[in-house]
Amino acid sequence: MELTTEIKIRKASHSRLHEIDFKHLQFGKHFSDHMLICDFHDEQWHEPIIVPFANLSLSPATLAFHYGQTVFEGMKAFRMFDGRVNIFRMDKHYDRFARSLERMSMAVVPKEIFMEGLKTLVDLDKEWIPQEADCALYLRPFVIATENAFGVKVSSDYRFIIFTAPVPSVYSRPIKVKVETEYIRAAKGGTGFAKCGGNYGGAFYPTQLARQQGYDQLLWTDAAHHRFIEESGMMNVMFVIGDTIVTPPSSDTVLDGVTKDSLLTLATDLEFKVDERPLSLDELENAFRENSIIEAFGVGTAAVVAPIRTININNTDFHLPEHSHENLSHKLKQRLERIRTGQEEDLYNWCHVV
Ligand SMILES: *Cc1c(COP(=O)(O)O)cnc(C)c1O
Repeated sequence: MELTTEIKIRKASHSRLHEIDFKHLQFGKHFSDHMLICDFHDEQWHEPIIVPFANLSLSPATLAFHYGQTVFEGMKAFRMFDGRVNIFRMDKHYDRFARSLERMSMAVVPKEIFMEGLKTLVDLDKEWIPQEADCALYLRPFVIATENAFGVKVSSDYRFIIFTAPVPSVYSRPIKVKVETEYIRAAKGGTGFAKCGGNYGGAFYPTQLARQQGYDQLLWTDAAHHRFIEESGMMNVMFVIGDTIVTPPSSDTVLDGVTKDSLLTLATDLEFKVDERPLSLDELENAFRENSIIEAFGVGTAAVVAPIRTININNTDFHLPEHSHENLSHKLKQRLERIRTGQEEDLYNWCHVV
């Protein structure tokens, strides 16, 4: 449907804002006052409405609970230097959301509802955007299958929801990762490129095993031969080898990250060499032996950059040089933050001012 009128709002009778200690935010624990709900039934999307954040009431037979038709996005809104508010790269997040929904045979949310819904919701709860540097309002749009039917089938009904949450700056201390060569996250022809629930549920068990061995995250490899690096946990991964940033290309097994795309664009602008190509474990191990690897880091919306200090390849720990502010990953992150807060010109129209 096309949105011809403004989105209806049923306001919360009182705000919970004063209950939040913005100096000590925990990631994922606090929710803003309102959420957007939009239902799909009778083969069409109906009018979205913004209501107070509240629990849902759903039948136990709701299909989403059983066969995995759930898709989400993760994005952020920022408080700018001059007090204005922006949502980062809505278009690119929307495109991925649509691709994920399509892959899961779910109704695709119209772009208009996604964009207007986010803007209206963020504007309504803008007091929830933390003022503190590097903090943000996390935005979680998602769709679940809502038909009540327990037979295995494609749902005919869906619910699109957006809620928002103030989050602290996620300063990742340098992490230890283990190259996974037994379990897999994504296979060719599978759902790895989609942000669908099952991808994450399936990754928990091998990740827990690595945690028991003292690692923070896995470095996933290709499902067929475990020869090529794919991603690290829920982040894309980049390596600085010599003077070049090497990162595996997006594919049906490597998720097309918005952060990755943004950082590569900035790196190219700063005249760093960027090489999006498959990176084998052999090459990575050689780079350690020759001391040509300088940095490794995960990139994603939550932390922006998560520096890696140790990589375990086939039971050997390889260590990276100490992380410092001279690192490329740090410089790229700083530049991105400056664009998002309006301290540097937004040459690419990434920031949608609300
Ligand atoms: C969300 C996600 C990323 C990072 O994507 P961003 O758009 O940068 O947040 C990378 N890999 C996986 C598996 C993800 O789910």
